[in-house]
Amino acid sequence: MTDHCVDVLIIGGGVGGLTLAQWLTGLGRSWRIVEREAYLGGPLAHSQYVLKWIPGWPAVSGRDYMAAILAGIDTTHCELSCELTQIEIDGIEQAWRCQLSNGRTMLAKKLVFACGAAPVSPFAAAERVIVGPGLQKIAHLQTGDRVLVLGGGDNAAEHALILQEMGCSVVMLVRSQLRASAVLAQQLQAAQIDFRVHGDELPLNVSVSGIELFGEFYDYAAVYYGYQPSKAITDFPVLYGLDQQISRDVFILGDMTGPAYPNILLTQGQAAVVAKQIDHVLSGDGMRTRHCTDLALGEWS
Ligand SMILES: Cc1cc2nc3c(=O)[nH]c(=O)nc-3n(C[C@H](O)[C@H](O)[C@H](O)COP(=O)(O)OP(=O)(O)OC[C@H]3O[C@@H](n4cnc5c(N)ncnc54)[C@H](O)[C@@H]3O)c2cc1C
Repeated sequence: MTDHCVDVLIIGGGVGGLTLAQWLTGLGRSWRIVEREAYLGGPLAHSQYVLKWIPGWPAVSGRDYMAAILAGIDTTHCELSCELTQIEIDGIEQAWRCQLSNGRTMLAKKLVFACGAAPVSPFAAAERVIVGPGLQKIAHLQTGDRVLVLGGGDNAAEHALILQEMGCSVVMLVRSQLRASAVLAQQLQAAQIDFRVHGDELPLNVSVSGIELFGEFYDYAAVYYGYQPSKAITDFPVLYGLDQQISRDVFILGDMTGPAYPNILLTQGQAAVVAKQIDHVLSGDGMRTRHCTDLALGEWS
């Protein structure tokens, strides 16, 4: 049974998907979001980080920024705890027939993937292994916990500082050299973070009771090795590294397009561009549902 027919099915309800939805609403287009998690907003939804990279914006937390975006969204158009499981072309309807994991089927003229990025790690997340940034992930650590921070970029540096501030005993381990920006490198030095180089070998022994490395023991390992585009959609491996529009009917945006520098502004800009491209294509297709307010009187004849 087909429940809905929409102009655009958006897969991923983070910054990119939600911003796109807002633009599409403004352009008079119908949309539906499919979000894997039980909540909207992606990683920023619970982040207490104060965002510092949005020029002209007062410093707000990721959570606050996301709340402002969500305030403009009709969340009844969002399928939560849901994934796209299968798609096929419906030749008669000239649309994608999409099967969702909640049993619904949906017809969509355009698909947009906005699934974000996943942290890179050779170690799976576990009770003692924290993978990727996010304050909520380290919130349960306590004063005196010995934490091995793996990685030498900005995220690793920032978390090493935060963990030390929390009273943890931090050892920061990089393969060859620190790559964090100068301002963070200076802060690491000032905080006297224990900083070591491990070379090519990293014989980490993870057990339920702790972490062992080079004969030393830690309570937790926290891995900050960067991001890669989400590969959640196995049917679309070709998405990796491609441009925003991969066909007339399928688009990607946000961190999925190349998250070397994951960035809210870029993601929101891409969402605006994708919305306008879709509007343009749909107008050309003659598939737009026209509202009387869109039309000059003469066009009714
Ligand atoms: C802790 C932290 C702090 C940050 N701070 C800043 C900052 O200060 N300034 C800045 O510019 N950027 C910051 N970023 C980066 C910024 O959050 C990202 O660039 C931005 O969120 C990318 O938006 P997106 O929509 O591409 O992905 P996301 O916001 O990650 O959203 C992707 C969504 O897709 C969902 N999803 C994934 N796979 C599927 C699937 N198969 N089916 C359905 N849904 C799926 C996810 O659950 C998620 O909700 C930060 C990121 C983090 C993690």
